[in-house]
Amino acid sequence: MKLLEIKNLRKSFDDLEVLKDISMDVNEGQVVSILGPSGSGKSTLLRCMSMLEKVDGGTMVYCGKTAVDNAKYMPKKELKEIKSYFSLVFQNFNLFPHYTVMKNICDAPIHVMKRNKAEVRRDAEVLLEKMGLAERADYYPYQLSGGQQQRVAIARALNMKPKMLFFDEPTSALDPELTAEILKVLKELAEEKMTMVIVTHEIAFARSISDHVVFMDGGVIVEQGKPADVIDNPSNERTQAFLRKLE
Ligand code: ADP
Ligand code: MG
Repeated sequence: MKLLEIKNLRKSFDDLEVLKDISMDVNEGQVVSILGPSGSGKSTLLRCMSMLEKVDGGTMVYCGKTAVDNAKYMPKKELKEIKSYFSLVFQNFNLFPHYTVMKNICDAPIHVMKRNKAEVRRDAEVLLEKMGLAERADYYPYQLSGGQQQRVAIARALNMKPKMLFFDEPTSALDPELTAEILKVLKELAEEKMTMVIVTHEIAFARSISDHVVFMDGGVIVEQGKPADVIDNPSNERTQAFLRKLE
């Protein structure tokens, strides 16, 4: 089943066309990795998928519901439900600095989603345990390492109970040891069949975790398919050049 279908997506900032005719799908239980050089439009694509940016063209269907039809968005009330289908984890964690770990994880489910407070806290405790942060519930973000902060951000995203998780370079602000910590969490989520879209420069990781790989350059999808094709045996010259540079 397709949880997300993107067709002919276009996005410009003033005169700069950043996304040009992007089409891709995300299937339930699968991991899709997005690779590509800096400036190729990866973050903009994730932000459009997450509705943090408005598209200028194209269609986006979430769980069979057409949220954006030829750049026309559904009414706000219906969009709210669609927005509960996904959450986004940022490169720089984006935790609320003045909230404790527990409050960071519980705030949106309680105040935005209006879920039962005690239940939300119980779920948060389970997630913190799973992230190895059970002892850190009352800490503030500045008291945690980058890896711990990112695990809090992942717990926060999971506590929204999304159908899909989107990650924008979740390890690029971390040194190698902490990167490994986060990649391990992502691997566990993949094993639990969490549907994920991950923008990453960790090629070996993308090869091992992904069901589908999308390679972007200059605002277009140059090539997409199985990791064995796109990463190990790319047919496009631009993909080949990008991967060669990383070796
Ligand atoms: P990537 O994540 O692949 O590095 P981005 O999506 O961040 O690429 O950026 C793609 C292009 O869009 C870049 O040229 C960038 O400068 C431009 N861009 C991104 N966000 C904005 C914005 N809010 N306003 C203007 N230009 C932007
Ligand atoms: Mg980016």
